[in-house]
Amino acid sequence: MALVVQKFGGTSVADAQKIVAAARKAVARHKGGDKVVVVVSAMGHQTDVLVDLAKQITERPSAREMDMLLSTGEQVSVALFAMAIQSLGEEAVSLTGAQIGIRTDSTHTKARIKSISTDHIMKLLDDGRIVIAAGFQGIDQHGNITTLGRGGSDTTAVALAAVLRADVCEIYTDVEGVYTTDPRILPAARRLPSISYDEMLELASLGAGVMHPRSIEFAKKFGVPVLVRSSFKDVPGTLIVAADRATSRPVSGVALAKDEARITLEGVPDQPGSNHKLFSPLASSGIAVDMIVQNLAQQGLADISFTVPADDLAQALDVTRAVAKKLGATGVSHDDSMAKVSVVGVGMAREEGVAGKMFLALSREGINVRMITTSEIKISVLIDRADAAKAVKAAHAAFELEQPEVDTAESSGTAAPPTKSSPLDVVRRLEGMEDLAVEDCQLDSSQALVTFTDLPDTPGVAADVFEEIGRHKLFVDMIVQSHPRGGRAELSFTVPAVDRDRAIEVAGRIAKARGATVANVPNVAKLSITGVGIRSHAGVADRLFAPLGEAGVNVDLVSTSEVRLNVVVAAEQGKQSLEVLRKAFGL
Ligand code: ASP
Ligand code: MG
Repeated sequence: MALVVQKFGGTSVADAQKIVAAARKAVARHKGGDKVVVVVSAMGHQTDVLVDLAKQITERPSAREMDMLLSTGEQVSVALFAMAIQSLGEEAVSLTGAQIGIRTDSTHTKARIKSISTDHIMKLLDDGRIVIAAGFQGIDQHGNITTLGRGGSDTTAVALAAVLRADVCEIYTDVEGVYTTDPRILPAARRLPSISYDEMLELASLGAGVMHPRSIEFAKKFGVPVLVRSSFKDVPGTLIVAADRATSRPVSGVALAKDEARITLEGVPDQPGSNHKLFSPLASSGIAVDMIVQNLAQQGLADISFTVPADDLAQALDVTRAVAKKLGATGVSHDDSMAKVSVVGVGMAREEGVAGKMFLALSREGINVRMITTSEIKISVLIDRADAAKAVKAAHAAFELEQPEVDTAESSGTAAPPTKSSPLDVVRRLEGMEDLAVEDCQLDSSQALVTFTDLPDTPGVAADVFEEIGRHKLFVDMIVQSHPRGGRAELSFTVPAVDRDRAIEVAGRIAKARGATVANVPNVAKLSITGVGIRSHAGVADRLFAPLGEAGVNVDLVSTSEVRLNVVVAAEQGKQSLEVLRKAFGL
């Protein structure tokens, strides 16, 4: 007998007929002998309707009353869902978030789950009932109703599956699963039979849309297998599991964040601590900074570029301009018509030439790459928004993502094989289930940093460089390209320190052919902080800039992903930086 959590999204319960159809799925499962918990969203676009209604009363509804209002959507659907099950002859009981005991913090409209009590639900399940739980809502310590943020029912479902130690969490939705890229942008997109938590985390937060990113954080932290599948078609869906159980390929998907803006703080005096002075006020304003790139200081002045969602540009510019004055920077520039295209895959860490292939595909389309950052499982490029669709298509084709692969979800049956993997150790130390979970900080002192300055800012340059690097079998780890200024770009990457001499030689030749310069090639140390929630918790990057700045450590490169934060510092400062960071993150 298995325990199953089934979640039905708004489109799956949009009307009475659909509710009954969904209820049949739960009943069938229950008749098969499983314990069933159902999580439902509000019917159809009900949440939008309620938001709109509030706006008709006031432009600035209070967050507490918003939660009171929005939570009614789910209260309607759980009651109807329970009635539907009862009409099919089974016993069901609906529960609100408060009745279940989903305790959250008090951040109305985007509350985080702190704990969930299981006793009540377990008893109902043991009594043979199907439990219908309202998604998206909880209750804070003062008894106020809270909501988890738009799309939050996924998070309720996976969190419930986690605490109930469910065998699988099935997400029923209006698409057939997780795709290699958004099928609305690229019809050639293909459903993936399986994908790893880390890849899904990246894709979800990079705009893949299928699932609420925080739900995947729960799935990873607690090892919950998640199956995303269609409510309306009986097809296998996509299984989200730990990396070793997902099919491995260099690239699993291409994600597009269409509405990005770039800001550059120009000519900042190059001292430890300037990153902190910039990113700390941005974090306290609640602005999620995404790509961060700092170029090499010239005559003691460096540029710091970063991206933010276009909606946050005005506010981010205000903050940046104020910081520019304080730091004595020479100026602030920005561009609000950018898009970020990322390729994601756990397999790319093992395979050479993935970045080169991506850059080549873009260059063949004449797309100019403005900024680049990479992590172990992701390569992101910032390009003009007008090129976005073309870029997605080119990257998708370059990695042959339209080619079908063996459908492991199909061959293993529709349900995930039960594996109750143990939760991360670190989770036990957390106060709230959704707190940032930093697992470890590691030091790798075996790299060297190659930097080209004065590369021409034209399409194809990055592709050329990495083609040549690849030909010489140099293994490249991190890649960063800063925002070009005055028609010249700066490109940095790390290679194994043992290959330093060869890298200098190859880089010298590349530079010469393009009128660029290779800066001196220092040995560097890379520090990696790993965990869950690194990007969804605002200001994590800043928690690292502050103590490093105080310790007088200059950060050469940074890259962030959902599960990792990398910084590169001078090799001599590696050990000291490790100490500083371990302390900062309580490790
Ligand atoms: N009903 C909420 C929303 O529309 C939660 C959800 O659907 O997941 O955002
Ligand atoms: Mg949804």
